[in-house]
Amino acid sequence: MEKRTMAVLGATGSIGTQALDLVRRYPDRFEASCLVAHSSAEKLFALVREFRPRVAALAVEPEAVPEDLRFCEWIFGPDCAVRALEAARPMDALCAIVGIAGLDAVWTALDVCERVLLANKEALVAGGDLVTRKARRLNKPMLPVDSEHSAIFQCLQARQDNPVRRLILTASGGALRTWRAEDMRAATVRDVLQHPTWRMGGKITVDCATMLNKGLEVIEAHHLFAMPPEKIDVVVHPQSVIHSMIEFEDGAVLGQMARPDMRGPIGYAMAYPERLPYGAEPLDFARLGTMTFEAPDTRRFPCLSMAYEALRAGGSAPVALNGANEAAVAAFLRGQISFGRIAEVIAETMSVCPARAVAAIGDVHDADAEARAIAQNIIRRDS
Ligand code: NAD
Ligand code: MG
Repeated sequence: MEKRTMAVLGATGSIGTQALDLVRRYPDRFEASCLVAHSSAEKLFALVREFRPRVAALAVEPEAVPEDLRFCEWIFGPDCAVRALEAARPMDALCAIVGIAGLDAVWTALDVCERVLLANKEALVAGGDLVTRKARRLNKPMLPVDSEHSAIFQCLQARQDNPVRRLILTASGGALRTWRAEDMRAATVRDVLQHPTWRMGGKITVDCATMLNKGLEVIEAHHLFAMPPEKIDVVVHPQSVIHSMIEFEDGAVLGQMARPDMRGPIGYAMAYPERLPYGAEPLDFARLGTMTFEAPDTRRFPCLSMAYEALRAGGSAPVALNGANEAAVAAFLRGQISFGRIAEVIAETMSVCPARAVAAIGDVHDADAEARAIAQNIIRRDS
């Protein structure tokens, strides 16, 4: 079997390290030829020592690169992911940088690589039609890594040309699912980072608590599967066992189930169309006992409705939604604003941000910068 070279963008993060765990288990099948991270130099040094990539990169230049790690090409700077991809030219790029900071790397990966394994949902939310059109034009597969989209992608293998009536995304409901509205406003960073079923990076864990994560995923599903917003539904399923579902016109529903472990969807994208065992215990239905479902409470989680609105509005609206959220989540994690303010900062930004058409990636970056500046002003007013 051919060994696939792979760039791991966001190598020190939650998705990146789990992907590297699979590379470690399957050294005959995968070679991590390019490792990229933001600023956690020590972590990246350890990974470079172990995986011996051809190219390694950090957005923030470290004081020095250890003597024994000078065998590979080192690239530094804010655009390091793009330059690292161009230097390493791997077969696959696992795009697992968090936020719109990963957009240019996804864009370049479509040019340079055979396949894009996409975890970086913000790149698709903001890059939208531009990214999917480029993938189609160049005939490059974008394989979903997000568990819901991987589940839908897996279910679609059984479609056999039949039309799909509806996509049903499941949501855990996040750390505050059972909280009363009046308590939610003052939820602390610690409360919010206690995710019930998944261990993930900080930003996405906050997004789960506001449920904007599910909103971003609705937009992501719209782009990946060419489905209009009215055919994408969300149901809260706190056990995170059914990862998402598709419904056919005869009412039949297919869902994909597994224990909540991201190595499943990461491995499915890496080895597609094969499946990689990674030592997970089988799902024990008798022990699980019950699976429950509830409608999302859009009063306590207004961010979900805001995402649908942004998707329907199109153009720069999803970019503004994402940019305002990134600014608000960062401010919340720094202790600058309360949890309750996140949704309000997004809503206020959206209401004043001019709607624009986006015809090129530069327009996406402009709309993002504009939304962030507005959100920052609102945040500063608070503190
Ligand atoms: P994380 O915060 O754990 O890791 C982010 C990684 O990106 C780190 O390695 C960091 O160094 C790197 N990075 C950040 N900014 C960068 C920059 N400007 N240049 C280069 N590298 C940069 O985040 P995560 O939880 O692994 O999430 C990554 C992406 O995957 C997000 O878009 C998230 O929504 C998506 N995702 C994550 C999970 C999960 O289980 N963690 C599940 C589904 C989707
Ligand atoms: Mg997800």
